[in-house]
Amino acid sequence: MEKTEVGVLALQGDVIEHLQALRRAGLTGVEVKTREQLERVDALIIPGGESTTVAKLLDRFALREPLAERVAAGMPTWGTCMGMIVLSKEIVGMPDQPTLGVLDVAVRRNAFGRQVESAEVPLDVPALGGAPFPGVFIRAPWVERAGAGVEVLCRLEGQAVMVRQGNILGTSFHPELTRDTRIHRWFAGWCARARSAA
Ligand code: GLN
Repeated sequence: MEKTEVGVLALQGDVIEHLQALRRAGLTGVEVKTREQLERVDALIIPGGESTTVAKLLDRFALREPLAERVAAGMPTWGTCMGMIVLSKEIVGMPDQPTLGVLDVAVRRNAFGRQVESAEVPLDVPALGGAPFPGVFIRAPWVERAGAGVEVLCRLEGQAVMVRQGNILGTSFHPELTRDTRIHRWFAGWCARARSAA
């Protein structure tokens, strides 16, 4: 069987860092900028960056609909920080900023105060087991409301910062900026299962 290919949406943001993290985790990552590239990948990471910019670029590159369709059809998809905002159903206080609307959460952008605005914080993520995960936060969103089908995997200061809804994972923080590959490997595990079920 061919190796699972994890795409990284490469419109803007920390694309290279995710590709490098995938490599460190022993996985194959490829850039996704076009509809054809999107069709070829088994899974997708939407990186950190600036969500208002990416909202516009998704339309300019004609990727909004094909992407929402693939996620809804079960493609394993992980949004880090800006990526989670793009996947969400609602942005608190910003009803005009378009999103893909596939992850049933309301997020608040730039939500943390100065303490956590740009910081590395040890996070307790029971689903990963082992040592605390180094959570790198950069003007991060939190999940303010989550639908019934959404599992909260980690909280910081009482706020949800890692969530899963079926094939969709969202993290407020940036595992790609650390040497800890546990979340990349964990995500790849579901990608492999999704492939063998297809
Ligand atoms: N503050 C950015 C936004 O709202 C997200 C920051 C990030 O991805 N590090 O789009």
